[in-house]
Amino acid sequence: MLRLIMLGPPGAGKGTQAKRLAERFAIPHISTGDRLRAGIRAGTALGVKAKEYMDAGCLVPDDVIIGLVQERLNQADCANGFLLDGFPRTVKQAEALDIAGVMIDHVIDMEVPDDDVVVRLSGRSVCPSCGTVFHLTLSSPKKEGICDKCGAKLIVRDDDKEDTVRNRLRVYHRSTAPLIAFYEEKGLLRRLDAVGTVDDVFNGILRLVEVG
Ligand code: ADP
Ligand code: AMP
Repeated sequence: MLRLIMLGPPGAGKGTQAKRLAERFAIPHISTGDRLRAGIRAGTALGVKAKEYMDAGCLVPDDVIIGLVQERLNQADCANGFLLDGFPRTVKQAEALDIAGVMIDHVIDMEVPDDDVVVRLSGRSVCPSCGTVFHLTLSSPKKEGICDKCGAKLIVRDDDKEDTVRNRLRVYHRSTAPLIAFYEEKGLLRRLDAVGTVDDVFNGILRLVEVG
């Protein structure tokens, strides 16, 4: 049983590591951002509602997101653990998990300076089909623009433009960073310097999770 939250600024590498961890521990990777983008692509009511917030680099309202996550956590595959990536992002969202009685084992706080975040996000491309994350120079696909894992055409996210990234960072510091103290008080916070290579960071997370 492993119930993890990945915390950290946009571009910290949460999705990259979450994908590996989910495979390693055979637990579902629940990314609110991926869910919302899938809603936008499919033109659902959720997608329509979320799009303008996401394009501006703002947070989607708490009630929309909390409902989405609660519904997902009630599914049978979460019974033996799960990995939350991009949720919670506000104290209200974290409190909603408490109110719903959702237990968490570790909150991994991936620490990356703002300047590195801008470099990472300005080169990011993602696979819309399997969710694998690439970077133009730091982690490039073997064939330009094509996913190594499933062969789909990679996309650049609309919200990875520099202006939007700066706003997302502001929103992170204002609304999400308070969760560091929130989880520290509960004894669940595991701090991690996430500036190393993808492998180093992965091994660092494994150590934190194993040590507890
Ligand atoms: P998040 O989910 O936190 O927004 P991502 O996992 O999408 O972050 O990573 C953001 C970008 O940084 C991607 O282009 C990814 O390839 C790259 N990246 C992730 N981890 C590292 C790392 N340890 N070193 C260098 N680049 C990384
Ligand atoms: P991400 O893929 O995690 O970088 O999220 C992309 C965007 O989706 C964010 O900038 C928000 O607009 C929205 N989003 C994702 N998760 C949440 C959340 N937990 N609360 C509010 N908005 C979210």
